[in-house]
Amino acid sequence: MSDQLKVIIIGGVAGGMSAATRLRRLREDAHITVYEMGEHVSYANCGLPYYLSDVIADRNSLLLQTPTSLHNRFNLDVRVHTLVTKINRDEKTVNVVNVQTGEEYVDTYDKLIISTGAKPRKLPIPGIDRAMTLRNVTDADTVKAMVERSGKGPAVILGAGFIGIELAENLAHIGVPTTVVQRGSNILSIFDPEMIAPLEERLRENGVHILTNAEPVEITADEVILRDGTRLPAKLVFAAAGVIPDNSLAREAGLKMGDTGGVWVDNQQRTSDPDIYAAGDAVEKPGALTGAQQLIPLANLANRHGRLAADSIAGLEPKANKAIGTVIIGAFGFATGITGLSERAAKKAGVKFEVIHLHPGSHAGYYPGAERVSLKVLFEPNTGKILGAQANGADGVDKRIDVIATAIHGGLTVDDLMDLELAYAPQFGSAKDAINQAGYVGNNVLHGTTETVQWHELEAEMAKGAVLVDVRTTGENEAGSIPGAINIPVDELRARHTELNPANVIVHCQVGQRGHTATQILKAHGFSVRNLDGGYITWKAGQDSRA
Ligand SMILES: Cc1cc2nc3c(=O)[nH]c(=O)nc-3n(C[C@H](O)[C@H](O)[C@H](O)COP(=O)(O)OP(=O)(O)OC[C@H]3O[C@@H](n4cnc5c(N)ncnc54)[C@H](O)[C@@H]3O)c2cc1C
Repeated sequence: MSDQLKVIIIGGVAGGMSAATRLRRLREDAHITVYEMGEHVSYANCGLPYYLSDVIADRNSLLLQTPTSLHNRFNLDVRVHTLVTKINRDEKTVNVVNVQTGEEYVDTYDKLIISTGAKPRKLPIPGIDRAMTLRNVTDADTVKAMVERSGKGPAVILGAGFIGIELAENLAHIGVPTTVVQRGSNILSIFDPEMIAPLEERLRENGVHILTNAEPVEITADEVILRDGTRLPAKLVFAAAGVIPDNSLAREAGLKMGDTGGVWVDNQQRTSDPDIYAAGDAVEKPGALTGAQQLIPLANLANRHGRLAADSIAGLEPKANKAIGTVIIGAFGFATGITGLSERAAKKAGVKFEVIHLHPGSHAGYYPGAERVSLKVLFEPNTGKILGAQANGADGVDKRIDVIATAIHGGLTVDDLMDLELAYAPQFGSAKDAINQAGYVGNNVLHGTTETVQWHELEAEMAKGAVLVDVRTTGENEAGSIPGAINIPVDELRARHTELNPANVIVHCQVGQRGHTATQILKAHGFSVRNLDGGYITWKAGQDSRA
């Protein structure tokens, strides 16, 4: 028997291939075999939706490596079209079948890494077998062919998660009439409603038909039927109602499973069997902000955790960080991103928070091309520690989400955001960047300089007797206003505050900034006054999200 370390990796994409290449760099002497049931390894699944519309025109650019290139560079034994059907833990072997030739054999391991990913969730409704999915390059080829064969649709996408929305954008690009059917009241339910409403609007403006609060009950040969009786013409149907961990091998091998349905691992990616590791979408991850185990099917974590598994096998004793969850989506030139907890997730987890909304520019307003970045930040009430952020806009969203993701990773507070020295020239940012401004607004709330009311609280506050004062200009007020608001522009407030009962006032402006100035003026005159957080823009987005 040879002393050579023998490692088998199941799944040859994000987690699996990161593990394989990292391990090779650490252990030149190891024998590393990668089994992949599909035709390709190391492909760019995140690029697949854009290949459908030829935004990514070159199919080969999705294929980052081949078995041959991986053999040449990393001396990996990569076997495609090869399905692992069973893990035999006592013997430390796996059963394997070549799905093309039917050849079956048994292979042995010292260490095994499972990175089998996640599979599309398919609604249990009649006709679901007709629904296509988009998981790998072969799926993308099938979809492309079906789109052509159908004479370009119409298409119905069941589910408005990330893949569903990316599919919708790319089908619209190539002229396929597309309807997205979503059970919930908004698309992409990971976001809070007022933060996702603008993307929803952008999709609709570009011809994507979105049906929310809608439940498909049957797929026929040419239609999707909804519970309310609506019949949607559908030559093409896509199952895009999220993904579930593809963990049947691990489960059947008796490895410990988490309550989320993902494989349980420790902070070195070891499963309950010390010789078996797991990484990627098949695995559950402890959440950094709630402590709860979560399924976070994202490429960054799959790659990172694959590398950690390799480090551990090589004896480096690494430690996985708890996961924050950072994700961004773009469609028709408009982006929406999130890091950490949403308001909805914080409430569900019983995490106490303060929240701010602001709408600064992506760069200095006087330099051409500045766009509004709408930003929402959650932080702990007493410490100011940042818990999460969401942003949307046509420019600069990725940068702000990434800075706040880094801040969360570093345990920073909203006060710290004021002090971040960020790169500035007029075409890139502002001397007071959106991030610094979030710090200023958060600082005011954290330390009680200003009190705020949220968009979804306003109606109840007014019903209880609060007087709403719109401190924007008369022109702005006439262009769109909140029902029941009195208009007194902020520049007239010092002279006209006597028109108001000081007992219970809420002020609002367009984004919250003049409202803050107004609260300070009125407080100085003895008013009990609060500012509508995020101003008219946030309130309007909230109303749109309910439409
Ligand atoms: C269309 C699409 C778009 C995406 N866009 C983004 C994005 O923009 N941003 C982002 O962060 N994430 C995105 N993701 C998610 C990201 O791709 C995954 O999080 C990541 O690939 C997970 O890596 P993994 O190694 O766990 O699984 P995968 O990369 O899915 O690889 C698992 C592999 O295991 C193979 N396999 C499974 N079972 C067996 C078996 N028994 N034997 C042999 N082989 C097996 C499968 O064939 C598969 O190729 C997207 C995913 C898809 C499908």
